[in-house]
Amino acid sequence: MDDVSHHSSRMSAVQQFDVIVLGAGISGLVAASIFSAEGKRVVVVDEYDHVGGNHIDWTSDEGYTFDVGSLIFQDDSPLLRHFPELLEHYVPIKPSWGRLNPQGKITVYPISIRDDILGAGPIGVIRIFASVLRARLFCRRMENARDFARYWIGAYLLHRSGLATYMRRFYGIDAEEIDLDLARKRMLWIAEYASLINLLRRSLRHKRKTGPKNRQMARPKKGFGVLYGSSVSRLENCGVVFKLSAHSRQLHKAGSGYELVLDDGTLSANRIISTVPINVAERICGNGQASALKTITLITLYFSFAGERGFSQPIIYNFSHDGSWKRLTVYSDFYGRAAEREYFAVEVIAGAVTSSEQAEVDFRKHACANGLFRGDLKLEGSHVLANAYPIYSKGAAQSAAEAIARLKGFGIESIGRQGGFNYQPTARVSTIDVENAIAAP
Ligand SMILES: Cc1cc2nc3c(=O)[nH]c(=O)nc-3n(C[C@H](O)[C@H](O)[C@H](O)COP(=O)(O)OP(=O)(O)OC[C@H]3O[C@@H](n4cnc5c(N)ncnc54)[C@H](O)[C@@H]3O)c2cc1C
Repeated sequence: MDDVSHHSSRMSAVQQFDVIVLGAGISGLVAASIFSAEGKRVVVVDEYDHVGGNHIDWTSDEGYTFDVGSLIFQDDSPLLRHFPELLEHYVPIKPSWGRLNPQGKITVYPISIRDDILGAGPIGVIRIFASVLRARLFCRRMENARDFARYWIGAYLLHRSGLATYMRRFYGIDAEEIDLDLARKRMLWIAEYASLINLLRRSLRHKRKTGPKNRQMARPKKGFGVLYGSSVSRLENCGVVFKLSAHSRQLHKAGSGYELVLDDGTLSANRIISTVPINVAERICGNGQASALKTITLITLYFSFAGERGFSQPIIYNFSHDGSWKRLTVYSDFYGRAAEREYFAVEVIAGAVTSSEQAEVDFRKHACANGLFRGDLKLEGSHVLANAYPIYSKGAAQSAAEAIARLKGFGIESIGRQGGFNYQPTARVSTIDVENAIAAP
């Protein structure tokens, strides 16, 4: 082949777009919706074979559908401004949350005045108040999440309520190692609960019965495919191209824009939005950097059950000092039983346990010791998810900001839960963050 024909065949193999979006999770979908509404030609590329990113489900042969943890959405979420068709697929629910405390009792989440404070007995109550007073007077200097929580509820209640243990379980590191900024951003509820004025306000509000502002919704019984399928069809009708199961080999500058080389073709665009993990974007653009940002690996165990349950709420958090599991969600409370059995998922942060097998043994032992499930408990399956949450050790936010700035220097706008190394608790927050990031100059 001569030079000219080689050049022209390469040109024809390159598909031209205005924007390439890496990742088809909530952040990628919202980004595609924004650019498509502006009339831009958009391509969304994902290594996963499905849209929805880490909204991942699995259905057993018996017909139980589980997910790795994302389940609850709201009918006033800004996500619905982009994808109104989602609403008809959600299942309205009335969730309630409980918490297994270190005393082995299922009680109120996140803290119970009756069980955690009054339940400590007269001497315990004195100790709680003495430790709060001590913290307010002598522990005003804060360097980490433990200092923050101790300042507000005192060291004694922090331990007695199991909050310190839960923080370690949730964030994957001891509370002493968790960045103070994250604590200030994400744990404000501790300060709110600890304020007497707020306590009074809350109890008055309860009495006035203002009613909920929004409705809680669960994913469809059959999983996320049904949910996001209609959004993908609509975006495709507007000209958005989806390339799933696509391995991105390399991103390089070409003229005034960029070319993304996939296994089966090349895409070009002037703007690159990345919502994939930072180290994945670093690999693709080959900038020689591989940021050592730590993330949590989440093991999710899928169980079915017949027998007697030791609690009534569909969602239970583990605040006890033992057991590696973090949260369990009983789907059959929302969708009804299947084959006359209840079914639920258990989220476990990898660390003390490193495999699904170990996680199962640990959970069974702990659930049995606390009377959570008496009867026939059957493991139906499991899922291991890397990059589930960022680990906010001290200095991690700074390292992430530097990596994002390097990517920006190359031309990649790295946003979203993975791309922004940002603990986004809900799809609502992810939507707002993407809207703001794209609107920013
Ligand atoms: C366990 C869990 C429970 C949650 N529960 C809820 C809930 O009930 N309600 C709610 O509103 N929100 C919930 N969230 C938060 C919500 O799911 C996120 O805000 C949202 O999914 C973030 O979307 P994203 O596109 O930014 O990132 P993600 O969906 O995390 O990922 C984007 C893309 O990154 C790439 N990627 C991700 N992981 C990897 C990997 N390991 N290797 C290579 N590529 C990868 C994929 O291409 C993926 O499409 C939950 C999140 C988790 C992890």
